[in-house]
Amino acid sequence: MSRITTSRFLVKPDSRVRLSQYDPADIAPFLSEDDAKGLLKKATKRLYDLTEILNAQDRWSLLLIFQAMDAAGKDGAIKHVMRGLDPKATQVFSFKAPSDEELDHDFMWRSLKVLPERGRIGVFNRSYYEEVLVVRVHPELLQRQHLPIKLFGPRIWTQRYEDIRDIERYLTRNGTIIRKFYLNVSRAEQRRRFLARLDDPAKNWKFSINDVNERLHWTKYMHAYEAAIAATSTGTAPWYVIPADHKWFTRLAIAEVIIETLESLDLHFPPLDRRKQGELAEARRRLRGT
Ligand code: ATP
Ligand code: MG
Repeated sequence: MSRITTSRFLVKPDSRVRLSQYDPADIAPFLSEDDAKGLLKKATKRLYDLTEILNAQDRWSLLLIFQAMDAAGKDGAIKHVMRGLDPKATQVFSFKAPSDEELDHDFMWRSLKVLPERGRIGVFNRSYYEEVLVVRVHPELLQRQHLPIKLFGPRIWTQRYEDIRDIERYLTRNGTIIRKFYLNVSRAEQRRRFLARLDDPAKNWKFSINDVNERLHWTKYMHAYEAAIAATSTGTAPWYVIPADHKWFTRLAIAEVIIETLESLDLHFPPLDRRKQGELAEARRRLRGT
């Protein structure tokens, strides 16, 4: 079984993004669902090994950003891909609507506080991108951000893209590798999943009437995603548009991108210096003598 090609999901820098040109139901033609599940298991094992080295080397960190419409499967994908990884090397943060304290700061404040430390993988379940997505679709949310009136204006979105690009470049230059995933679910599949949540008592808790309201703004959201992805997919912090109508494929595609990313780094266990080697020899001698 070969690995799947991820390059077709990658958004090249400075390209025009038309989400309608990405098929949400895309899968690898040679792959059955069972094959994919087998591959995901293998991928998880590989990820565990790579993460162990990432953690021991303590140089790079990886920031994975997940954005999507509701019910696209963000939570499940994060859970499956991170399952089996060493918890000390991973951390997941979910960003909900900002609190009063958070609204009293610049929009990056809450994210900067929880960036992954060196040697760790940080997952953002939603992120500062909400600032150019939900806030762009509902500009009235800007009113709550206590911005000086002078700074409101039509250029605010372009400025935010620019600021996000700058911050991501800064982080990259400091050893944080960034990969961004848009889980591309179709409107029909979202409807199906909402109905399943209503029909299944075990899934009722996941249902929110607000999700149905947001669905009415689908086209506006698609435009906001297209503009944000086009403006912020860079060579060092690229976006991937991952097909999300088949959850088994989504999870495998994400795992592959993360593996490729880690494999592209110069990961290795830290070499032992002479002092450390001496310490180990000394410990061995003492343990044998007792
Ligand atoms: P679930 O899959 O459990 O529904 P979720 O990520 O959708 O997970 P919710 O609590 O349903 O979690 O929704 C979080 C809400 O917070 C979303 O509607 C999102 O748009 C909103 N949100 C996140 N960040 C911001 C932000 N910076 N400004 C305004 N709204 C935000
Ligand atoms: Mg939700």
